[in-house]
Amino acid sequence: MKGVRFLGNCQVEVTDLPDPTPDPDQVLIKITASGICGGEVKAYKREEGMDANPGHEVAGIVEDPNGHAQWQKGDRVGIFTLQGCGYCRWCRMGKNDFCAEVKIPKATHSEYTCSRATAMVKLDDDIDDPLAVLIFGDGMGVPYGASTRAKVGPGDVTCVFGCGPVGLGMCIMQSFLGAHVIAVDVVPKRLELAKKFGAWQTIDAAKTEDMVAALRDMTDGIGPDKCFEAVGCQETLDIAMEATAPEGLIVQVGHGKQTLDPQKLISKRNLTIFGNWIYHPGEYTKLLDMQRNGLHAEKLITSTYHFTEAPAAYKAAAEGSDAKIILTYEEKT
Ligand SMILES: [Zn+2]
Ligand SMILES: [Zn+2]
Repeated sequence: MKGVRFLGNCQVEVTDLPDPTPDPDQVLIKITASGICGGEVKAYKREEGMDANPGHEVAGIVEDPNGHAQWQKGDRVGIFTLQGCGYCRWCRMGKNDFCAEVKIPKATHSEYTCSRATAMVKLDDDIDDPLAVLIFGDGMGVPYGASTRAKVGPGDVTCVFGCGPVGLGMCIMQSFLGAHVIAVDVVPKRLELAKKFGAWQTIDAAKTEDMVAALRDMTDGIGPDKCFEAVGCQETLDIAMEATAPEGLIVQVGHGKQTLDPQKLISKRNLTIFGNWIYHPGEYTKLLDMQRNGLHAEKLITSTYHFTEAPAAYKAAAEGSDAKIILTYEEKT
């Protein structure tokens, strides 16, 4: 099959990759759309290359059910990023993301991939393939998981640190849920997108000397109620812990090395902090309901490229002026 290979140092090529072979618990998927994720941009910038690509957000059609009677060739499916076994206690609770045997679809910037037969959903006609990538993957899954677990709702002032694809997804999600969202980033283009996606206020951290003071100024001197750290660096976590209002909440979402000073959380301010990975696959119907009630998750997609244009797509992703970039796979005639 054709697919994208990471060569290291911000270089990718479209080349021949080995055809994937499904495990007994998997079906073979012909990919129709896949998403570029923040983690992949980090991998793209690394010195060392890879055999293929780290893509993992995907929608497609069943190419070979591989003996799984519930699927037929040609079924259009949404595919979960975190794929549990489907049978253990976590999976039976719909929290397949905690399954000890979790699998992730591999190399999804290619023509084919494999998905566990138990980790797909037949798509209704109103959910197109790029939208399915967002809803069943982490593109909208992380914003949904982090925001609903934090019980974001009307009356909340939230602050999203980091307006990459996930942070911008949180701007869409949290403004939909009724919160006043403050978006923080260092890239002006991303702050513009945040505003477009419903942010109430934005702060360019590169131009702001005292972030804590700036956040207090916007919030009657008390700070945001709920802060979402979507960068994965120490500085933003420290600012979030300093700025969050007493009795407030900090949700840690970004990937990166961080340490925590419990004194800052507990002493005098009664803060709560928790982490969030993606969302529980069992919750996808709630996310679909939101979409059908006006969430407009599709706003997050700011560019679409054919997968053979992956070098340009990755270059754009690394420049950081897009929200979500989707690769498509229709035959070129
Ligand atoms: Zn992802
Ligand atoms: Zn399981």
